[in-house]
Amino acid sequence: MIDFHCHLDLYPDPPSVKAECIRRGIYMLSVTTTPSAWQGTSELASSSRNVTTALGLHPQLAAERQHELGLFDALLSEAQFIGEIGLDGGPEFRHTRANQMAVFEHVLAKCTEVGGRVMSIHSRHAAGEVLDCLRRYPSAGTAVLHWFSGTARELSRAIELGCWFTVGPAMLSGRKGRDLAAQMPRERILTESDGPFANVEGKVAMPWDVQKAVSCLAKTWGTSEAFVSGVLEENLGKLCSGKPDWAPMRESPT
Ligand code: MN
Repeated sequence: MIDFHCHLDLYPDPPSVKAECIRRGIYMLSVTTTPSAWQGTSELASSSRNVTTALGLHPQLAAERQHELGLFDALLSEAQFIGEIGLDGGPEFRHTRANQMAVFEHVLAKCTEVGGRVMSIHSRHAAGEVLDCLRRYPSAGTAVLHWFSGTARELSRAIELGCWFTVGPAMLSGRKGRDLAAQMPRERILTESDGPFANVEGKVAMPWDVQKAVSCLAKTWGTSEAFVSGVLEENLGKLCSGKPDWAPMRESPT
């Protein structure tokens, strides 16, 4: 199983969640919301080849943590994966739009400088603006749009721009999410839990809930869960090739 967007550090007991992921053979991208969380979150993953940590600055925290961009820059050479970053156009965050934009553009410019990164990107109520930014930084790396909730037209634009997508059980529990997922290119899709923020059937999403997304994709594609899992593992290997720090690149279970 693959959970390519999980906030491991925000569960009440991260080591036990990680241990269960290892037991179940889950590959996890452990995203962070602030540069100051990088150190501790990386240490959580340090003994595991299944978990890798991404350096992030979440758009919902952009205003209060903009001063951590210096730390972001200092850590960037250590981080092969970036996230969670992006923009949030929801009414409760609209007043921080200028900060969000400054942070997101800074990150994209820095990723460009270092030759590109794989980036897990938030685009809630801001899909069009996120895509406009990505278009301005074509060499920032590979954009992986997490829990994409834009329009069908914005999805087409994202596909044209070369974006990847991560879909989870929360997104796929609604008709709109399932319709979007059905239009996503199979060779650019991975699963995510977005735990512990997301909920699945009324409970906090756990990394192994990604199997529910696999099951949903199997129905959507008219195929078996085993086939979907094979496609996802192949995708993960492709996305991460050339990044030697993480187990899936060395021992792709395809
Ligand atoms: Mn998230």
